[in-house]
Parts: sequence; C-alpha cells; structure tokens
Amino acid sequence: MTQEHNNLINGEWVAGTAYTPNINPSNTADVQGHYTQASAAQLDDAVQAARAAFAGWSVSGIQARADALDKIGTEILARREELGTLLAREEGKTQPEGIGEAARAGNIFKFFAGECLRLAGETLPSVRPGIGVEITREPLGVIGIITPWNFPIAIPAWKIAPALAYGNCVVFKPADLVPGCAWALAEIISRSGIPAGVFNLVMGRGSVIGDPLVTHPGIDAISFTGSQAVGNRIALQCATSLKKFQLEMGGKNPQVILDDANLAQAVELSVQSAFFSTGQRCTASSRLIVTEGIYPQFVEGMKARMATLKIGDALEAGIDIGPVASLAQLEQDLGYVGIAQGEGATLVAGGERLQRASEGFYMQPALITDTTGAMRINREEVFGPVASILRVKDYDAALAEANNTPFGLSAGIATSSLKYATHFKRHSQAGMVMVNLPTAGVDYHVPFGGRKGSSYGPREQGRYAQEFFTVVKTSYTGM
Ligand code: NAP
Repeated sequence: MTQEHNNLINGEWVAGTAYTPNINPSNTADVQGHYTQASAAQLDDAVQAARAAFAGWSVSGIQARADALDKIGTEILARREELGTLLAREEGKTQPEGIGEAARAGNIFKFFAGECLRLAGETLPSVRPGIGVEITREPLGVIGIITPWNFPIAIPAWKIAPALAYGNCVVFKPADLVPGCAWALAEIISRSGIPAGVFNLVMGRGSVIGDPLVTHPGIDAISFTGSQAVGNRIALQCATSLKKFQLEMGGKNPQVILDDANLAQAVELSVQSAFFSTGQRCTASSRLIVTEGIYPQFVEGMKARMATLKIGDALEAGIDIGPVASLAQLEQDLGYVGIAQGEGATLVAGGERLQRASEGFYMQPALITDTTGAMRINREEVFGPVASILRVKDYDAALAEANNTPFGLSAGIATSSLKYATHFKRHSQAGMVMVNLPTAGVDYHVPFGGRKGSSYGPREQGRYAQEFFTVVKTSYTGM
C-alpha cells in the first residue's frame, strides 16, 4: 500500500474508519496514495476542537495570523511544481494548469496575509450629541468548508485563507475524489504556527461527514462550492438552524461571438474556455452564441482548431487537455452528447471516448450545432469538454440568449464594438463578464461569484471575502 494519509484533528493526525485509494484519471493503475475516511464521531471531535481553539485564535494578534498565512503561501509557491504535479495526477488537469493552480493558491494565502492587517472599521458621530459610534468587524466563529473536486487546491485556499485571516476556526471537508491536494495543504498549514484545533481536516464522503458538518450545532457558518443539487440542500439545512451560508454552484456560461469579432481570437478564446481543463471549470463556456454573419467561418474555425488539440496523460509534456476526472463524469459527458443528438442537434466534432497507452478517462472534446435555447444541452450543466452552438440573428438576440439560463456565473463577448461590449457588460445577468477574453480565467485579488442559480451569499475572494467571514458590530460610547 502507498503512504497512508490521516485526518488532522486538534493538531493530531488521526486514522479514520478505512482508507480509499486516490486514483490517477490518466492511468487508473496508478494509485497516488491512500486517504482515510473520517467517521461522524471524528467530525464531532474536529468541531469541538475548533470551538475550543476559537476563544484564543479570535483574539490572537493580527501579526501572528499574517505571519502564519504568509508562511503557508511562501511554502506553496516554493513547492508549486510538486503540488501542481500532484494536482495533475489526482484530478487530470495538465501539469502546467496544475502548477498554475498551485501558484494561485500560494498567492491567495499571501494576499490574505496582507488582509489581516487591513481589516478596517468606521467611526461616525451619533445623531445624539455626546455619543460616538464605532462599526467593527469580528470573526464569525467555526466555519465548515466544503469543496468540489475540480480545483483541489485553489478553492480550498480561497475559503481557508480568509477564514483564518479574519480570526475564524475551520473544519475542512474536501471532495472525496481528490484528497491529495487537500491533505498536502493541511500538512503545510499544520506547520505554520497556527495553534492546534484552529484548522482541522476531515476526509470522507459528503453523505457521511458533509451532511453532519452542515447540521452540526457547533458550526456557525458554511462556505460551500459544488453542484446546485447539494447547494440547495445545504441552503435548506442552514436556514433551519439559522447558520450563515455561502454557496458557489454551477454554470451554463455563454460566450457571444458577434459578426465584428476578430475570428481567430474568437475561435481561440472559445476553444480555451470550453475545453481547457477538460471543460471542468464552473466558468467554462458551454454555450457559444454566434451571429449569422460570422457563423459559417466560426464553425469551420472551431473544427479546424479542435482537430489540433492534443488529448492525453495529464503529466505528458505538450498535452493540451488531460482526461475527465472520473468515470462517472465521463459517462455524464458522453450521455449529454447523446441527449443533444436525441433532441435533434448535430455533433460536428469529437464527442467520443479515446483510448491512450494507459487506461484513463479520455474524451475527444465535443462541438454540437443546430441547438436551441430550450434544449437540455443548453439548460443543464454538463461539466465536461462539451460545447454547443446557438445561431442568432443579431446582438439583441445574442444578449437575450446569453441571459436565457437559470445560471449566472460568467459570460463573455467577442466583438470589436465598444458599443456592444459596454452594453453587454451592463446587461449580462452574470456575476463576471469578459470582453474578448475566455469566460474562464480570473484574478485572485478581486471578487468571484455569480447570480441567479449559480451563487448565493456574499462574494468570495479579494477584500469582498470579509463580508462572509466577519460579522459587523455597532458600538455606542457616551462621552
Ligand atoms: P458536489 O457533488 O456538489 O460536491 C461538492 C462537495 O459537497 C463535495 O465535497 C461533496 O462530497 C460534498 N457533498 C456531497 N453531498 C453532500 C451533503 N449531503 N452534505 C454536505 N456536503 C456534501 O460537486 P462536485 O461534483 O464535487 O463539483 C462539481 C460542481 O461544482 C459543478 O456543478 C461546478 O459548477 C461546481 N463548481 C462551482 C464553482 C463556483 O465557484 N461557482 C467552482 C467550482 C465548481 P463528496 O465528494 O464526498 O461527494
């Protein structure tokens, strides 16, 4: 058996009920390691440890917090190649994408190290003479953090770093599919000087420990990223117990291509945002909305560019796209290609499983035409390398189609018109809008999040993260 990895509870590495193998989706014979499964009793131990640690951590000096977060960020950045390789091996992103994600995680910790020192309040005069009013921000308490498999180190980083920066304690449950990066991150945090119990890692299935984490009375708030189905359930559970919660969920992100777009640029950014990272980004473009004048050239351009894509082992040099992360996800991706064809759409490129030297979950990216906004392929999140094209008459029809979705995470437009770019930025019903850029690919120091069915609660990242991870107090002082 490869190295065993345990839960981190109250500063101790604790074995759970069993170990499960972490399998490489590029090569299912390659087991990266074995990771323990926490029991519900251990989840309770982790929450109790975090509660006990909160009294001290919440009043610890901001210098101590800043130093710890800076140390974590420095180590992640120094080990970005190793961590990025681990990420590629367990999740299937290409190695350069994995290294980029690890660097992002390191930079996020560095950013929030600085934010520890910048948490400001307000002082106002009272409407009643002789009284002063202070508005301050305080830590929330113990935060339950639940993350998905598609960004195994960046998403944990962008929740854990602000939680700790603002004086909260954490119980972290990563996705069961990708425990490797989560464990490596926890190991780095465990050596950062943060007191025992402030940060706890519990690994295992959502149904076994995710559910009791959400409902645990010792948890003050839940920060969740994942599917809409699980997010909806968590919302109901948190509402019942009046916990604060924040949900980042799925997307069905539109990329509009207008007649006046630069064709080569429009093709490149569409291929990038639809298919890179195997289409497994919540901000991936899955609906390409194309006006009539450029439609034939755009479809031909996409087919030509897609024919050049190299799909293979995530750790192989020169690969553009790695495997799908799991067999279940691959089956879902292939299933949606069939659903689209069954609804009358046309598969014009890819869409089939690929064989490579090693046994893995490889798929040729799929491009689907002759679709309408009512089809399931344009309404439901696939979360794989599958993009559909909608042909529309003009900009107004494109905008209407872009907003014709229950989701609202990210939206893009390719155009050389300042008028249309400006109008789209204003009228897109998405949390993030891109002009002449892929819908995926965002900075770490500015807010991240969506609207409608994609998100609920305050934004993540940047200084806006304080909205979720702190609570406001208003104090009055008589002179
Ligand atoms: P998921 O199935 O919803 O799982 C997300 C997390 O929730 C996992 O840790 C999962 O544990 C846990 N979980 C499952 N059931 C639970 C329960 N009953 N109570 C508490 N936790 C539970 O999502 P996924 O398949 O990992 O990730 C893909 C989804 O994430 C896509 O919809 C994608 O769009 C979304 N996503 C959104 C963003 C964003 O910022 N908007 C970013 C990335 C991904 P297990 O792994 O053990 O099941």
